Amino acid sequence: MINSVYKASDSRYESIMKYRRCGSSGILLPEISLGLWHNFGDVDTLSNSFSMAHYAFDQGITHFDLANNYGPSFGSAEETFGTIMKKSFAPYRDELFISTKAGHDMWNGPYGTWGSRKHLIASLNQSLKRMNIEYVDIFYSHRFDPNTPLEETLQTLVDIVKQGKALYIGISKYPTEAAKFAYNYLSERDVPCLLYQGRYNIFDRDLEERNIIKQAYDNGSGFIAFSPLAQGLLTDRYLNGIPADSRISRGGFLKKETLTDDVLLKIQNLNKIAHDRGQTLAEMALAWILKDKYVSSVIIGASSVRQLSDNINALHNTQFSKEELEKINCICLG
Ligand code: NDP
Repeated sequence: MINSVYKASDSRYESIMKYRRCGSSGILLPEISLGLWHNFGDVDTLSNSFSMAHYAFDQGITHFDLANNYGPSFGSAEETFGTIMKKSFAPYRDELFISTKAGHDMWNGPYGTWGSRKHLIASLNQSLKRMNIEYVDIFYSHRFDPNTPLEETLQTLVDIVKQGKALYIGISKYPTEAAKFAYNYLSERDVPCLLYQGRYNIFDRDLEERNIIKQAYDNGSGFIAFSPLAQGLLTDRYLNGIPADSRISRGGFLKKETLTDDVLLKIQNLNKIAHDRGQTLAEMALAWILKDKYVSSVIIGASSVRQLSDNINALHNTQFSKEELEKINCICLG
């Protein structure tokens, strides 16, 4: 049982955190946001989840990113966040920008996944209860559903905003054409898309190559990057083997097979560049994303306050010389 007597730091807006405007909206997001995909589930240590949330907010991180099925188990990250809301963050609700999503597998049967009106509305209602909040700041369609008319998914997002259950809406992992359709459909109904959420990091530049990041900007939407550290590969975590408490060891989406000799060599070489810049590899990896003016924020994951603190230090230097960028490209792209 957590008996939180949390009081937010009085200097929370005087740290190095900066805030960027999301596309052409009125919303400012912290350059670093905190994601609760891992380390906030019912398998994790509740006191650590509390410590990370408190530390994040004390450092000016106002944006917390969730989804219906984050955990494990499904729903448990939202429940943890709901407990944090109740015990710590309730007085600060208007200082927080909270997201959730629906569209990936959540419950059994035909209405527990994808992009139908039935799934999205039922899922959001569940999320609000778990998180002990009356509305989310942004609700996302978590993935494009090729079998549901896109108009149905998008109209549901519009209706959710009109019902007051979300202030803004966003899309995640949509292919280019579907994203284009979404931007137009939503803005024509006066509920413009606030954010496109997609994977972007030094190793994975697919969205840049497919022009998705610039497309968001051109449509007045922000872009928020997930897995900016490639789930931990772009840190010092795996430089000397695979730690027992690491994401790879715990099993899940980051597989041991991903850490090939070739990838390890790239990590080692990137680490040398980071060292020459006076940064850790994690700091450099985040700075590399934030150098892009089209990026509104990066959503980091963390398993400790120490990692969070390291990551926030990235903001001390987000400038790169041409030579540094060339060296990084040479390592990653060959
Ligand atoms: P990251 O790429 O930031 O990876 C986080 C992991 O990297 C941590 O759990 C930790 O691993 C390791 N790490 C973080 N900081 C450090 C550090 N300073 N030093 C050493 N290791 C470090 O992000 P995630 O993959 O966790 O994704 C972030 C968020 O993005 C999610 O929580 C979610 O909100 C969102 N997301 C959205 C998706 C979507 O479909 N829209 C998909 C995936 C994520 P370890 O646990 O081993 O310590």
